[in-house]
Parts: sequence; structure tokens; C-alpha cells
Amino acid sequence: MDFARVELGATDREFQERVRAFLAANVSDELLRAERATGDGVILDLHRAMGARGWLEAEATTVDEGGFTAIQKRIWDLERRRLGLPLERWGATMMILQAVRQYATPELLDEVLARVYRGEALFSMGYTEPEGGSDIATCKTRAARDGDGWVINGQKMFTSGANICQYVFLLTNTDPAGKRHRNLTMFLVPLDTPGIEVQRLQTVDDDSTTITYYADVRIPDRYRLGEVNDGWAVLSGPLAAEHGAVDSADAGLTDITTMSNFGMAMAISADLAVGLATADGPDGRRSLNDDAVSYRLGRAHSRIEAALSTPSLFGRVAIAQAMRDIAPELMDVLGGAAALASSTPGALADGEQGPEYLYRWAPLVGIYGGTIDVFRNMIAQHILGLGRPTYVAPTK
Ligand SMILES: Cc1cc2nc3c(=O)[nH]c(=O)nc-3n(C[C@H](O)[C@H](O)[C@H](O)COP(=O)(O)OP(=O)(O)OC[C@H]3O[C@@H](n4cnc5c(N)ncnc54)[C@H](O)[C@@H]3O)c2cc1C
Repeated sequence: MDFARVELGATDREFQERVRAFLAANVSDELLRAERATGDGVILDLHRAMGARGWLEAEATTVDEGGFTAIQKRIWDLERRRLGLPLERWGATMMILQAVRQYATPELLDEVLARVYRGEALFSMGYTEPEGGSDIATCKTRAARDGDGWVINGQKMFTSGANICQYVFLLTNTDPAGKRHRNLTMFLVPLDTPGIEVQRLQTVDDDSTTITYYADVRIPDRYRLGEVNDGWAVLSGPLAAEHGAVDSADAGLTDITTMSNFGMAMAISADLAVGLATADGPDGRRSLNDDAVSYRLGRAHSRIEAALSTPSLFGRVAIAQAMRDIAPELMDVLGGAAALASSTPGALADGEQGPEYLYRWAPLVGIYGGTIDVFRNMIAQHILGLGRPTYVAPTK
């Protein structure tokens, strides 16, 4: 690992200033608060403004295609994160975009690509089903041939952003009697197609997700991505990106694992806890002088650093597990006021920085994009070569 300081040249400094000026002019506390109230994972006006400046296209393309350099990409990432911008919808769109660029017909690319780059089209992920569980290949949502097109029937659970996106990257079953993984087909379905119903759900951490119903949804064949029954191959790229099972770029500037930004949010909460523990309390004492408090805060910081330095799938598990363990620890150390939500008088922190928010968020970080348990099994099976787990009924 290279810990060398990155010195910005004049062009990169000028780029950083332009980004900062744009964000200062377009982001306000009011906008951030309004997004937090919906949990939609995007500020649409801001997203479109980024598109109009050409920054979405630059982020989603390589240098050879005219996109950002590795340093510009990192600056762009860090500046947005510093402000706590919600980037979930755009993140999902970029993961799906690689499959769309690889598998969409020229006609479909014509329809979507420029709109995505302008910030006018976002994609959601339609994989999970109410009864399918983590094993999404058991998909029951059915797509059947209908003349030149397809008719789709079924239901998806947790299609985050379907209430605000323009398309869903939809996993369907096109051969119920077919072999596992050889009976699936992917579509990019416009969410305004008749027959689609989207029901919004609020999660415990004030994010939003949706249930989506598909009743006789008719779409032309041009919305199919890849070959019929070869959907698992189409899905594999976006899934690997979401799982963090992809190599980081050579420049050494990218996140060491997926969800590193969540790890950074956890670090900010822990820093805040240290700040509070160092301040004089009502009795004039600093709680940090208590050995138990300093030991527990020190341990939390060490775990965060370790998680943030752990690459690939391992890092993803380390971040999610650390967040689950550290959030209650911070609340415990800081006392009763730490349990108050940010909007409550007497709360210790505003917005998403306080341990109370971290505590509500932590369980979800270990669920979406695959649960922490499933990732542990993947590591055991595919990386450590320990073989397939066998599940036996517990003995009495
Ligand atoms: C807020 C939120 C947003 C989401 N957004 C999306 C989205 O945009 N698109 C989308 O398609 N999905 C989305 N999901 C779904 C998410 O990917 C699934 O919830 C997750 O993969 C777990 O699947 P499940 O809920 O069916 O749980 P289940 O698979 O039923 O799991 C139940 C329990 O069994 C354990 N378990 C299951 N299988 C195994 C195994 N093989 N080994 C060990 N333990 C196992 C799990 O760890 C869990 O504790 C979202 C979920 C949430 C909570």
C-alpha cells in the first residue's frame, strides 16, 4: 500500500476549486434536510445540474473516453462526501450502466445514455423478491414472450429508488422449467410502463425503499439486455461491483472496499464521541479521564481503522460488523443524551453524525447488497476454499 501524499498540480487544484465553487453554489443545508426527510438517495435538481456541467458523464467514463483522471475522480468523490451528499441512486445507476453499455442494443443506448449523463435518467435494481431471500437466482418474476415483445408479471421487494428512478434493471425468469442460472433474463424496464405499481417504504434509518408489483407489464424486446436466459452473465458485473468483489484501480486512489464511505461516516461519529468525551461535563469532569471510556473509544477507533484498511469482500464485512458493534458502544459511553434523535432538543449531534443515527443505520449496512452472513459464507467458500456450507438441523 502506498501512503505517499498526493501533491495536486495546478490543473487539479483548479479542478478542485471549480468543484468546491459549484457545490457551494448548489448545495444548502435546506436541500440536504429535505432529502433526509424523504431518504430518496438523490437531490434531483443538484443531480441534473451536475449532468448539465458534464460531470456525471466524466465520472462514468474512462480517461480515454474523455472522463475524469484518477485524481480528478478522487477529488470529485471526496468533495461530495465532505458535504454528506446522498449518492445512492447515482451509485446504483453507475453500477448498472456498465451492463447497459455492454449489452443494450444501439436503439436502447440512444434512448438512455445521453439522459443518464444529463442527470435525467436513473436506474434502480430489481433483484430481490419477497420469498426469494438472498438467493436471487430463485427469481419468480416471469417474463413471457408476447409477439415481438414481452409481458412481465411478478413482485419485487426492496427495489430502492423505484419511486424516483426512470428505469428498473429487472431480473426475470424466462424459463421456469429451465436449469438454475440458465433461465434468467435481464431487462431495463421504463418505470412509467402501465401495470407497474410502486409502493414506498420507510426504513428504520429514515431511508426509503419500495415494493414493486408487475401486472401484465408489456414492453418491446429492445428493453432486453443480453441473450434470453443469459441474464446471470448480464447481472454478474453489477453484482460484483455491488459486492465489492472487483479489483481497485491501479492508481491506488480509489476506495479500498465498497462501503468505505459508510466506514468514513462511522469514523466521523466516533470522532464526535471523542470530542464530547474531551469536553468538560456539567460536573466539570471530562469523561475521557475515565479509563473505561478512553479504552472503549480507543478500541472503537482501532476497529474503524482496521475496517477501513481491509480490502475487497473482507472490508465490506469488517465495516458492517464494526458499525454494528461500535454504534451501541458509542451510545453507552456518551450516556442517555446519545439516544436522542438529532431533531430532538438535547440531542448530541445533528443529522447523520450522531451515534443514535449510526445505531439505526448499522443493521441495514449489514443487509443491503447482501447480508453480512452471506458474505462470510462467500469468503469461506470462494476465497478461503473451505467448500460449500452444509446446513443440518440442530441436534437436541
Ligand atoms: C434498505 C434496503 C434496501 C435494499 N435495496 C435493494 C435494491 O435496491 N434492490 C434489490 O434487489 N434488493 C435490495 N435490498 C434487498 C437486500 O439485498 C436483501 O434484503 C438481502 O440480500 C437479504 O435478503 P432477504 O431480505 O431476502 O433475507 P433472507 O435471505 O431471507 O435472509 C434472512 C436471514 O438469513 C440469513 N441467510 C440467508 N441466506 C444465508 C446463507 N446462504 N448463509 C448464511 N445466512 C444466510 C441472512 O443473513 C439473514 O439473517 C435492500 C434491502 C434493504 C433492507
